[in-house]
Amino acid sequence: MSGKNKYQNRRDFVKSVGKLAVALPIGYLAWELVPKTTAGEFVWQIDPYSCTQCGQCETNCVQTVSAVKCMHAYEMCGYCDLCSGYLRMGVKELNTGAELQLCPTSAITRSFVENPYFEYTIDENLCNGCGKCVKGCADFGNGSLYLQIIHELCVNCNQCSIAQSCPADAIQRIPATKPYILKEGYKTDES
Ligand code: SF4
Ligand code: SF4
Ligand code: SF4
Repeated sequence: MSGKNKYQNRRDFVKSVGKLAVALPIGYLAWELVPKTTAGEFVWQIDPYSCTQCGQCETNCVQTVSAVKCMHAYEMCGYCDLCSGYLRMGVKELNTGAELQLCPTSAITRSFVENPYFEYTIDENLCNGCGKCVKGCADFGNGSLYLQIIHELCVNCNQCSIAQSCPADAIQRIPATKPYILKEGYKTDES
């Protein structure tokens, strides 16, 4: 065994196949491509360290499909075969069967990396922000799945209706020049 720990080795798998390049959600990339709002402006964002995955981010947004989506901090992820964010509780088979998946919209893809590691990728277009996978990962994993408001989809309401009802007071205004609260390992070249 080399001097690297298991997480470093897993990062190497991912980097070696260029997966981090495709891991950035579409909304985040779109935000990076459009001109930044002027200094002094603010947007709503979820503090992923305060969110308790209550489910209201799916139902309380004024958008028909919530502007809240799941993100994945790939460098935190354990690439577990038994992923508690992907699989329902108590499953005996660890495969991609739809009946075994926790996500109600099949937004998470499970891909084999190297025995016994699997990678989990979120399709932002299918995610409804329900937070079920986030709760599964928080309860039994390491919290590498988390929710964020995607600013390409959010209309930046004067009073965010999710923030008004959030039981954890996890949604606050933050500077528009740095509109995401990203977990460790979720970085772009500019960050
Ligand atoms: S309403 Fe608050 S606690 Fe509930 S999922 Fe959204 S951010 Fe998390
Ligand atoms: S379980 Fe919910 S939050 Fe997670 S990817 Fe599926 S739709 Fe999105
Ligand atoms: S500010 Fe409005 S559009 Fe944005 S997340 Fe909150 S309720 Fe949804």
